[in-house]
Amino acid sequence: MTLAITALRVFNDNYAYLLTDRETQSAATIDPGQAGPVIKALEKKNLELTHILLTHHHYDHTGGAEELKKVYPAAKIALHKDDVSHLELKPALKLKDGDSIDFAGTTIKTIHLPCHTRGHVAFRIEDHLFTGDTLFNAGCGKFFEGTAAEMLTNLQQLKSLPPATRIYCGHEYTVENLAYAHRADPDNRKVQNRLQNSRKAQAAGNFMVPSTLAVELQTNPFLRLDDKNLTRQLKTDNQLATLIALYKIYYNVSP
Ligand SMILES: [Zn+2]
Ligand SMILES: [Zn+2]
Repeated sequence: MTLAITALRVFNDNYAYLLTDRETQSAATIDPGQAGPVIKALEKKNLELTHILLTHHHYDHTGGAEELKKVYPAAKIALHKDDVSHLELKPALKLKDGDSIDFAGTTIKTIHLPCHTRGHVAFRIEDHLFTGDTLFNAGCGKFFEGTAAEMLTNLQQLKSLPPATRIYCGHEYTVENLAYAHRADPDNRKVQNRLQNSRKAQAAGNFMVPSTLAVELQTNPFLRLDDKNLTRQLKTDNQLATLIALYKIYYNVSP
């Protein structure tokens, strides 16, 4: 792969991403909540923006798309068809599950994960997965437009990807999520170690993306819904009940 992936910080805790094809000097951005940091990165390397990929309709992921489209009119906006009505933007690509997007000869696959929003998607490029607000480091997004059962299906789908998959999420919530994970699963040493390490990384101002699916499978309770220690702690006897119990710990509300 000749692609380079760069994470950009937008707003307080959002990650936007820039994909760069070195051969053609073209670029794609994922979830540009703000245009400024993306334009700056593009201009610095003299790149032409060809795609604006949106995981879902929320403003903190889409807010910069319109301005980017003005500066780079050839850029194609891509969004799942079920989220299109929420925005003024006119996406050139109205996505559905399984759609492929060609970016400079590289295939970007669309995985529909309805729950956080009806049209939430993850974008997969080989072993790189952009999960928006569905899967975070050690956490899971809110069920704004869907049910716990739908999120369970999404999580099971993501779990089935190769463990080496690199996970690029939409927000930097690692430390607080691991603190919740530790509350839910206090005996999990891997959670404790990751919490310590991510506190250091946070203090140093380091980005904590990408994670890997292998790390998440060990430390993200939302991917460990049948773990015996976790279900004993939460007093649950099936994955859906465990998911709902975790959601209450993380978000202090019932889904
Ligand atoms: Zn969102
Ligand atoms: Zn968000």
